[in-house]
Amino acid sequence: MQTETKPMKDLIQEKWNKRPLIISGPCSAETEEQVIETATRLAKTGKIDILRAGIWKPRTKPGLFEGIGVKGLPWLVQAKKITGLPITVEVATAKHVEDALSFGVDMLWVGARTTVNPFSVQEVADALRGVDVPVLIKNPINPDLELWSGGIERLQKAGLKQVGMIHRGFSNYGNTEYRNAPMWHLPIEMKRRFPEMLLICDPSHISGRRDILQSVSQKSIDLGFDGIMIESHIDPDNAWSDAKQQITPERLAEILDALTWRSETTDKQEFLTALATLREQINHVDDELLLLLSNRMKIADKIGQYKKDNNITILQTNRWNELLERAFKKGEGLGLSKEFVEKYYDAVHLESINHQNKIMNS
Ligand code: PEP
Ligand code: MN
Repeated sequence: MQTETKPMKDLIQEKWNKRPLIISGPCSAETEEQVIETATRLAKTGKIDILRAGIWKPRTKPGLFEGIGVKGLPWLVQAKKITGLPITVEVATAKHVEDALSFGVDMLWVGARTTVNPFSVQEVADALRGVDVPVLIKNPINPDLELWSGGIERLQKAGLKQVGMIHRGFSNYGNTEYRNAPMWHLPIEMKRRFPEMLLICDPSHISGRRDILQSVSQKSIDLGFDGIMIESHIDPDNAWSDAKQQITPERLAEILDALTWRSETTDKQEFLTALATLREQINHVDDELLLLLSNRMKIADKIGQYKKDNNITILQTNRWNELLERAFKKGEGLGLSKEFVEKYYDAVHLESINHQNKIMNS
């Protein structure tokens, strides 16, 4: 099934620049047969760019399968030989880096549980000094963008030229719709901070289940992500780790086919003109909103002055509840979600209180 005759170095460069970039493979390498059969069936779909498999698995609790270890690396090398797909594994220590590189692993990734620990990221970065290999870094499990940015900077400072990001969601307490909350505004903010950097979505660890993999993937495409890393297994129900979220290579091909891929821009003049007109309208409305908000704060200032003169507290809970209830009802009729109205009122209310505070203490 080897379809590529190019040297792997050129191939991984080509993949790095390909959009969308699709990475798939099992959560964990389990047996030689499982790795090779997954890889072969993935390659057969013709839709996969890079083969992934966890060799060392950071598990939340002891006693679970913690990865096959170095023994699994020759299986991946064999899978690469058969399919022509470059391979990638997760590394968390200097020893992992050394072992992976000694087997010619083409790309590495840093897992979410490693990104949270600057000592570990630094250890990995130091082990990679002077090495020319692409590295993806997952977001930390907690929603801390400074940690994520810090991890990227550590890798770049070690001299790595190809660093990319993987968004895998953020851990949360209690059961929610997602295994890890996507908090889409956070990867969007990372894209703003690192506009040129590759940004991949990992719908498997966000979803934690099969039925929403497609919608999570679509959402990431709609937001302009550069690709997807998604787990696949020949026998998902019996996978040794993350069984609930894995899918067969064939199911993956169906999901990929059903996705609508989008590009960031186009040179179609008609589209560009229409977009520019609508954006102009948005700028105009935004200017008006700012002006209205400023007027609203001026009224708050006056109220602050009255409250000060009459020795009345700033916060009036009843008035606040009444205002919110009114806004929810009105917002609903205007097509604004309760969630948005609540956030908007919180922000406006806080600013109003700050204004009144200033007046009271002046
Ligand atoms: C994984 O990709 O299998 C993995 C361990 O992911 P994360 O670091 O996102 O938990
Ligand atoms: Mn996994």
